[in-house]
Amino acid sequence: MRVTFPHMGNLYICLKAMLQYLGVDVVVPPPSSKKTLTLGVKYGPEFACMPLKLNLGNFIEAYGLGADTIIMAGGCGPCRFGYYAQIEYAILKDIGYEFQLIVIEPPERHISELFNKIRHITGNRSWWQVIQAIRFGYQKARAVDEIEMAAFKIRPRELVFGATDIAYRSALSLIDSASSPNELDRAKKRAGVIMAGVVLDESRPVLKIGLTGEIFTLLEPYSNLDVERHIGYLGAEVDRSIYLSEWVNDHLFLGMLKGLRSRKDACSAASPYLRHFVGGHGQETVGSAVNYARAGFDGLVQVFPFTCMPEIVAESILPEVSTEYGIPILTLIMDEHTGKTGIITRLEAFIDLLERKKEFRRHAFS
Ligand code: SF4
Repeated sequence: MRVTFPHMGNLYICLKAMLQYLGVDVVVPPPSSKKTLTLGVKYGPEFACMPLKLNLGNFIEAYGLGADTIIMAGGCGPCRFGYYAQIEYAILKDIGYEFQLIVIEPPERHISELFNKIRHITGNRSWWQVIQAIRFGYQKARAVDEIEMAAFKIRPRELVFGATDIAYRSALSLIDSASSPNELDRAKKRAGVIMAGVVLDESRPVLKIGLTGEIFTLLEPYSNLDVERHIGYLGAEVDRSIYLSEWVNDHLFLGMLKGLRSRKDACSAASPYLRHFVGGHGQETVGSAVNYARAGFDGLVQVFPFTCMPEIVAESILPEVSTEYGIPILTLIMDEHTGKTGIITRLEAFIDLLERKKEFRRHAFS
């Protein structure tokens, strides 16, 4: 069995670590690229959201590298994600790619369904080893998130253009190569030193922008056209409303780890505007917009794929949040036709507006 999974930002670092810890043969697809999207667009339904198309492309590319088994998360709606895995599997079968599909999702009848699937992947490993592997994957997720947060902070302040990207890539590769918890501890320390080594101009005025929206588009830089990097280079510090470790804590550990932001916090902040689950992260998008506004952020950027129902619901509510809290919000919708230059132009105009607003306030209150 040679296992693959779809890309979603740096998720591959954690999943690979977890599976290899259990001795599973892993095939990581090449990073998502124009080729990946072109394959997905060719075989996927036109009005499917972009994550489905990129997933399809990932699987086709992984097949070329010898993968024969797909591990996919599943769900129960109300958006299309609930039947993604089955649709992708059927499309792949139709075009001649024979995979075995393992969908990790809430069991239909009994918890043993989920345990049987995990047992199928991990073979004769003990449950204790499985728990240790999940722990190792989670530690990598935390390490990756800390590097990303550091990059968001230092990018708009770096003295040498591009220094953050170089540091970010080498720090990530250290985390990726660590093959045991002890090695990971050492890698984290070295990664911290690398990130701290970027020379900064601390006096530079920097805006703060909250980035929120659909989880795949938030985490996968190819799907959001590197929006975080562009915002950073335009002189604003970014905070993302979802990090990998937070998602794992909310959905796998049921929020048991303390000290992390949680889905519950976001949903309670959203409650004056949206009180029920609308699928995906629609409710969290509204809640994080409120939280960012309360925390004094200068602006918000919402990103999501074209036709994403939960985020369309959130988008229709965000103008109310914007008016009540006086925080400007820019919505960016991504699909295979979205061009990088258009996105950068809109970000430039948005950041220009935020700077003028801040300047105006400074004069008005000085
Ligand atoms: S949340 Fe949006 S992008 Fe994700 S599967 Fe649902 S509709 Fe598609």
